[in-house]
Amino acid sequence: MKKTDVLVIGAGPSGTIAAAMIKNAGLETMIVEKLKFPRFVIGESLLPRCMESLEEAGLLDAVKAKGFQEKFGAKFVMNNGDICDFNFSENFTEGYTWTWQVPRAEFDKTLADACEAKGIPIHYETEVIDIQIRDDESSLTTVRYLDGSEEQIDAKFIVDGSGYGRVIPRMFNLEKPSSLPARQTVFSHFVDKNRDQVAQEPNRITIYVYNETTWVWCIPFSNGITSLGFVGYPSFFEEIEGDLDQKLDYLVRSHPELNERFGDCEKAFEAREIKAWSATCEKFYGKGFVLTGNVTEFLDPVFSSGVTLASVSAQNAAKLVIRKLKGESVDWEKEYMEVCMKGVEVFRTFVTTWYDGHLHAIFFSKNQNEDMRRQISSVLAGYVWDDENPFVRSHYKHVHTLAKFVKETQGEIVYTPIEQAVKS
Ligand SMILES: Cc1cc2nc3c(=O)[nH]c(=O)nc-3n(C[C@H](O)[C@H](O)[C@H](O)COP(=O)(O)OP(=O)(O)OC[C@H]3O[C@@H](n4cnc5c(N)ncnc54)[C@H](O)[C@@H]3O)c2cc1C
Repeated sequence: MKKTDVLVIGAGPSGTIAAAMIKNAGLETMIVEKLKFPRFVIGESLLPRCMESLEEAGLLDAVKAKGFQEKFGAKFVMNNGDICDFNFSENFTEGYTWTWQVPRAEFDKTLADACEAKGIPIHYETEVIDIQIRDDESSLTTVRYLDGSEEQIDAKFIVDGSGYGRVIPRMFNLEKPSSLPARQTVFSHFVDKNRDQVAQEPNRITIYVYNETTWVWCIPFSNGITSLGFVGYPSFFEEIEGDLDQKLDYLVRSHPELNERFGDCEKAFEAREIKAWSATCEKFYGKGFVLTGNVTEFLDPVFSSGVTLASVSAQNAAKLVIRKLKGESVDWEKEYMEVCMKGVEVFRTFVTTWYDGHLHAIFFSKNQNEDMRRQISSVLAGYVWDDENPFVRSHYKHVHTLAKFVKETQGEIVYTPIEQAVKS
């Protein structure tokens, strides 16, 4: 049997940030990770706010040394060619004005290696299969190794950062349906051999509006690879003939700008799909455990909020776990769940108004108000806990009021789908 103060499940960003902070505070921690690293996971565009979490955990320098593609803003391109470009240097909220675009296999391995360098043991290819919480909140976790053998880990507290594995919500029946409809992506990594020929800022992350309900991410990495993914309703992809590779090829060819850049590029791997990613659960904490990252709530990829919400939740959870193990009392509802949900709700407003067209109206409106642009840019940088920002404090009201004003004064956004045939 192994013994530790805090058992962390999962070596994604939320697990490694939590473990690093707990270790920095002088507590013993270990990570159990189901897979062998490096492993693929989606979620390649970071937001500036996550830099603060990486910094506080003492993991930022390790990432800096890797030379990942720097990201200074985000560009949105409407399907009529209109452009809306946010620069994080113009943000309302003070903080980081840049971050990275990262192949997650390498990024997550960097964080995990930095944790090991701090003396945190990581047990790879080790899957949590059972957890028993005792009355005193300590626990006995059963893990299974690759060879089928099992072992138990005795811990004073558990941090569940198992991402899409959702270990504790599944085990303890905490799962709750998401309020968002199921969407799908078809994506791959492209060998971006034409990048040098792109006239303007070829390394900038760009979100293309493909049609009213479908959009595309284009995330260039520093290694010459670019991640390209279409996101829409499953019915949109079903209507396109062929296997996933053929669907993705067809979609790239149907978009003039993407076709010019990627039409003749090889894929680094065959097209993949992910479906129905939105998930949430009843409670982000319980007797002897706290949930961090995607296990808590994951909304949607459109604003690249996932890793940042994962990092900030891990940062906050770790501080509370440290306090708890030092014998202080913690109000998990108020100090943790409400704080997590505050950030999630701001992004929920932005995600839902992206899909209902309100944000399109705002982003692509003419004569934008510079103050509001800065406030919106701060949200897109992940600064979603800054109550000084009206688009954080009363996000729903501000987004809806501004969209209404724009639509009344400039007319509704007119969609001119590039591939109407695909949509209909
Ligand atoms: C289509 C799509 C696009 C996205 N794009 C972005 C983006 O551009 N930017 C962004 O910030 N986010 C994005 N996301 C979200 C991002 O993928 C997640 O928010 C992020 O990976 C969450 O990090 P995490 O540490 O919580 O979990 P993960 O990164 O998923 O790590 C969890 C780890 O736990 C391990 N694990 C699982 N089960 C067990 C078990 N039983 N025992 C032990 N270990 C286990 C897993 O192997 C994994 O390594 C996207 C999501 C989707 C679906």
